[in-house]
Amino acid sequence: MEDFEVKRKPNFIRNIIEEDLRTNKFGGRVVTRFPPEPNGYLHIGHAKSICLNFGLAQEYGGRCHLRFDDTNPTKEEEEYVESIKEDVRWLGFDWGEHLYYASDYFDQLYQWAVQLIRAGKAYVDDLTADEIREFRGTLTEPGRESPYRNRSVEENLDLFERMRAGEFPDGSRTLRAKIDMASPNLNLRDPVMYRILHARHHRTGDTWCIYPMYDFAHGQSDSIEGITHSICTLEFEDHRPLYDWYIEQLGIYHPQQIEFARLNLTYTVMSKRRLLELVREGHVRGWDDPRMPTLCGLRRRGYTPEAIREFCERIGVAKADSIVDYGLLEHCLREDLNKRCTRVMAVLRPLRVVLENYPEGQVEELDAVNNPEDPSAGTRKVPFSRVLYIERDDFMEEPPKKFYRLAPGREVRLRYAYFIKCNDVIKDAAGNVVELRCTYDPQTRGGDAPDGRKVKATIHWVSAAHAVEAEVRLYDHLFVKSDPDEVEDGKTWKDNLNPRSLEVLTGCKLEPGLANVAAGYRCQFERLGYFCADPDTAAGRPVFNRTVTLRDTWAKIQKSLGE
Ligand code: ATP
Ligand code: MG
Repeated sequence: MEDFEVKRKPNFIRNIIEEDLRTNKFGGRVVTRFPPEPNGYLHIGHAKSICLNFGLAQEYGGRCHLRFDDTNPTKEEEEYVESIKEDVRWLGFDWGEHLYYASDYFDQLYQWAVQLIRAGKAYVDDLTADEIREFRGTLTEPGRESPYRNRSVEENLDLFERMRAGEFPDGSRTLRAKIDMASPNLNLRDPVMYRILHARHHRTGDTWCIYPMYDFAHGQSDSIEGITHSICTLEFEDHRPLYDWYIEQLGIYHPQQIEFARLNLTYTVMSKRRLLELVREGHVRGWDDPRMPTLCGLRRRGYTPEAIREFCERIGVAKADSIVDYGLLEHCLREDLNKRCTRVMAVLRPLRVVLENYPEGQVEELDAVNNPEDPSAGTRKVPFSRVLYIERDDFMEEPPKKFYRLAPGREVRLRYAYFIKCNDVIKDAAGNVVELRCTYDPQTRGGDAPDGRKVKATIHWVSAAHAVEAEVRLYDHLFVKSDPDEVEDGKTWKDNLNPRSLEVLTGCKLEPGLANVAAGYRCQFERLGYFCADPDTAAGRPVFNRTVTLRDTWAKIQKSLGE
């Protein structure tokens, strides 16, 4: 496992584990698991669960299993299994030899179902799914018993075996637990344990045509693996009595389930069903689109595992639902990127500048600092010459009051280079500014004027003759509303998709050192943000994603709140 520092802030789960260690409840063992269903790619919400489960195991010298809860053959695919493994590893965690599949337990689960039938605790029901729903009742009304509820053990055994043998069509029968149709907990009103599904499973192939329900598989899978602390999200709180019931009836080892609040993030949808919809309907370019909250999307965007782990630690775990500000995630990211990223100069919307008094053909190699936060990162040389590009935004022909950058007659500093002054503005036939004619002051090399004269702005630049052309993709939130579910009548969450979430800029100019970066290379473009080379990058033709801008709105808000 990758070695990284774990900060130990107390939380209610750590308290429970420490108490269990003190009382020797599980013989000093700490065994957790991360149990994804392989029906989609992992998202940042899953990261919370991964960091929690693997993190706790690491902290208390235990182990964490990766278990695929693959009980639904119609929605699951091998592709998802592989991506999930890759994402967990990328986050920095390792399950070692403890890779499991609920489908490995199908035989055992079948045996246990037979055991419950023999004990008179399960029966084969001929009601349809709709009828079962109707008979279940509501929160205020008790359910009604199925007319098939009191079949004899022999008949149940026979029917269940024939279900398994494939004698009945899909949906015609189920196996149900015989618990209590009047229970105030709907999960205990004779829940379905097995359903008939003539579907090929990604691992067991055509061996089975009956499949256990998630609720009949999950708790027992934990039990089989000797999980001590089975940590899951709050929606399973109402399922716990059912898991307990199965385990008690079967008389098998009993893990302890602990529920915590799932992560919700502003401007984000997190359900796999919805993420799948975004992919299938082409609202994004794929599961790893840098706008997606998936781990592969965040990775492509340039997020680091360190930043995500820090975020997961900072949000903590609680019992109450809440929504976390996206700004906090970005804040954690900036903190990490600030430490590790080389600063470079890149011009996204170039405006040509000709230094009329700079000798033609001359090139100077100027020293630029790689990372002011990290002196050991050293310096590099950047070429300077007569024709440069600056950012279009850094010039205004008629500057308003608070605009201090370049304007006709005005002087600014070029980062790591000289003061330049704008003398003339060249326009095309349509009146657009296409070039600035400037002069530089040779006395100001390195940034200051010997006569003490000041400028109010420092701007970045790239030498035209040396520039590398690049495509740069800028992103905004995928949704325009902080809560994508806030919709008017007749609209859906998809109507809140942000039509401007992606802006593609071509013809961007980068300093020459970036010509041959590899996909995944991260750096800061000075003044513009942190960027990461996209897998679409080809030799000499970089494609960069903006990971995050430099402005930390979250830190600013916290400051103003006095926190
Ligand atoms: P989704 O609701 O996105 O489809 P899921 O809960 O169905 O997710 P699983 O594959 O069952 O997805 O999740 C695996 C584990 O990740 C579960 O233990 C689940 O509790 C946890 N998990 C899923 N979403 C979140 C979240 N937003 N925050 C924290 N944990 C989560
Ligand atoms: Mg689930």
